[in-house]
Amino acid sequence: MPAVFLGHGNPMNALEHNVYTDAWHELGQALPHPRAVLAISAHWYTRGVGVTAMAQPRTIHDFSGFPPELFAVEYPAPGDPELAREVVGLLGTEMVALDDAWGLDHGTWSLLAHVYPNAEVPVVQLSIDGTRDAEWHWDLASLLAPLRDDGVLVLGSGNIVHNLGRITWGSNTPLDWTVRFDEYVREAIDAGNRHALTHYLDHPDGALACPSPDHYLPAIYVAALRRPDEPVATVASGYDLGSLSMRSFRVG
Ligand code: ZN
Repeated sequence: MPAVFLGHGNPMNALEHNVYTDAWHELGQALPHPRAVLAISAHWYTRGVGVTAMAQPRTIHDFSGFPPELFAVEYPAPGDPELAREVVGLLGTEMVALDDAWGLDHGTWSLLAHVYPNAEVPVVQLSIDGTRDAEWHWDLASLLAPLRDDGVLVLGSGNIVHNLGRITWGSNTPLDWTVRFDEYVREAIDAGNRHALTHYLDHPDGALACPSPDHYLPAIYVAALRRPDEPVATVASGYDLGSLSMRSFRVG
């Protein structure tokens, strides 16, 4: 099973149809049908690591200031408690704990509403431990590799460049540092350059592009799951509001 990183951008993408949402939908048509999705969303950023273990995860509307129709969206995909236990088996109980409180946040459902609009594929979320560095996350992600052989689609959801403080409303013209950092990450992913990807804050534009790690780290998970000589394909690319990269890619 391939692994994919999708740049989710504005939560309103859940309801909209544009070049990005069309690409996500086409991806869902092109991928082999997965047994389940394991989603690593920028919006479940925790101390320690949790994996959702409920049979029917709730739809979490984790945003404010959006229209009522976005709050009305439900994404009723089932959970997969067996997969959650498999993840614990792969990572170990010291590293990850079963979670019965979270559900599906908008980082996950705003994408899956387009990838799998019928919500028939079970979905489990894995949280991002915000106390750990990118090297640690790369190592953790590598432990998830056997899931790809077992029909599980690993989905990273974030944005490679994500600086809400520098947003230019109404603009799709990217800032120069947005483009520079996005290109740097694209090249590092193509080259399989772990050091460049995990030491992203050493890049002169890294701190501006990623003022916090939450939206960047999901891309690390997918890059780490690439096997030697496996192809990387761009699913979508472009810029939103000046300081968001909508780059999406798949490995395998
Ligand atoms: Zn987000």
